[in-house]
Amino acid sequence: MYRKGKLYFRYGTMGSAKTALLLTTAYNFEERHVDYMCLKPVIDTREATNVIRSRIGIERQCRWIYQNTNLYEFARDLYRTEGRIVDWYLIDEAQFLTEAQVDQLSRIVDDIGSNVVCYGLRTDFKSHLFEGSRRLFEIADTIDEIKSTCNCGHKTIINARIDAQGNILSEGAQVEIGGNDRYVAVCRRCWRRKRIEQAKRAELPLEFDDDDTAGAL
Ligand SMILES: [Zn+2]
Repeated sequence: MYRKGKLYFRYGTMGSAKTALLLTTAYNFEERHVDYMCLKPVIDTREATNVIRSRIGIERQCRWIYQNTNLYEFARDLYRTEGRIVDWYLIDEAQFLTEAQVDQLSRIVDDIGSNVVCYGLRTDFKSHLFEGSRRLFEIADTIDEIKSTCNCGHKTIINARIDAQGNILSEGAQVEIGGNDRYVAVCRRCWRRKRIEQAKRAELPLEFDDDDTAGAL
């Protein structure tokens, strides 16, 4: 039987409710008795439970995708051992897939006929594409942007990594495992303006309050 599937990429910035959308989709499939499966690349192996959880409180079990997982072989094994062809694969944090794994997903679509929906970030905190996202932009059938809004009203583009003082960081590894990094999604203009402000502040000589100085003398 020939089944026609598609490879989807739905991307957005941090906080754009990608995971909530994935979980809503899963919920709708359950209501309609559609066979689906959630998957997620495992970045921090210390993570204890294999669930996809959104900030609004819903969660679903998922299977982990490891760096060396062959997703096409995984889907074929499901068919060989259980006779199961999953209708919809829902993949969270798809930016962390390797290029090879995205290619494997495209074979699941083309050879097996499943649909694969990937949710993920477009770029890292330095504004460069993630490996998985780049490959998805290159080969996905359907690409949708999940939009969200910066404090200033423009569309968010950048996932800025910030320190405890709220300063935007521009150095560091693409993925900080087990770190306490915080992120804030901002528009491109705010990202640039804030970094210029930070640079100016760093150049200024230390300023003393005249009154305090006078009092101390
Ligand atoms: Zn802005």
